[in-house]
Amino acid sequence: MPIQQPDRSTAVTFESINASGPNSLQDFRDRAWMILGWAVVPFLLPFSINHFIQNRYLLGSLALTVMLILSVNSFSLYKRNKQLVPVWVIYSFLIISLIYLINTLGPTTLFWCFPALFVMGFVTERKIARTMTAISLLILTPLSFYISNIELASRFVFTLCMICFFSDILVGYLIELQEKLSKLAVHDPLTNALNRRQLDLYLSEAIEETKRGFGPASLLLLDIDHFKKVNDTHGHEAGDDVLKDVVDILHRRQRRLDHVFRIGGEEFLILLRNTELQHGITTAESLRKYVEENELITGQTLTVSLGVAEYKEGESSNEWLARADSHLYEAKNLGRNRVHPVKN
Ligand code: GH3
Ligand code: MG
Ligand code: MG
Repeated sequence: MPIQQPDRSTAVTFESINASGPNSLQDFRDRAWMILGWAVVPFLLPFSINHFIQNRYLLGSLALTVMLILSVNSFSLYKRNKQLVPVWVIYSFLIISLIYLINTLGPTTLFWCFPALFVMGFVTERKIARTMTAISLLILTPLSFYISNIELASRFVFTLCMICFFSDILVGYLIELQEKLSKLAVHDPLTNALNRRQLDLYLSEAIEETKRGFGPASLLLLDIDHFKKVNDTHGHEAGDDVLKDVVDILHRRQRRLDHVFRIGGEEFLILLRNTELQHGITTAESLRKYVEENELITGQTLTVSLGVAEYKEGESSNEWLARADSHLYEAKNLGRNRVHPVKN
């Protein structure tokens, strides 16, 4: 029988789970594009009609084209969740239109630059927005001096720089906030392990991987022994430090393919991808030994018990988890500070 090759065609892999935390910033940018697409219609349509009435056909067509590009883009985002016109194409078209308008209609058109540059930071990635802002300022500064007097041009450039600066600060603050929120949504704030809500997603993905022939996967369920006593003897804060230390140990021993979850107060789950049962037991045993031999609380030996379960074909993620749990229960029953099952 030919060896089954892993099917990478449907790779919704763990990397994509990691990258697909709640990216509300991208959602916000898409929404901003959508609003922009709809909002330009009532703003630009009267200008466009006016230009046509005044026989300024080129200007009328220009306003109409800007309106159409942004609206079509907006419609595509709404219908297909996809931007139709690349951002650099939109930017190039807008900046060329602006230069043309300023040259044709004179200094009053400079006002259009304010909303245009302010919006930039909100609709594209920060690096791209900064590059576009820099290019715009490099073009608009000499142009404003060319078409108007020094006093007006210097005021225009100064206020435009201020708008770009504060828009950038605002966007930076939004990015920071979004990163913090994403981290909070995915990680346990005390230990920095992945939180329980992520578990279903990761387990389903691990099961999918084993089905696609990526190799076995095992779960290690770890529970700190007599943790209540740690709290009672040394206080809740010392207990928190122990939880953090245990997760640090787990993270330090983590391979690229492992994931650590906090699934209860002092209970942690380690998902070992590409790991069969015997290898899982060896890993669990080395963790148990490490915790026992390293004095996590001065003057007291801290121990952990672990249940190990390799995924069995046809099992649901809950059944797999329940097996690891029953093995942990067994390890506790057999006297704690041990791994169940034992190595063959
Ligand atoms: P066993 O060996 O059977 O697991 O005993 P245990 O004392 O570890 O287990 P038990 O379930 O009786 O107690 C768990 C304790 O963990 C009780 C609870 O106060 C404590 N705990 C849960 N979450 C936290 C936390 O975030 N910080 C601290 N410091 N303690 C916690
Ligand atoms: Mg415990
Ligand atoms: Mg427990």
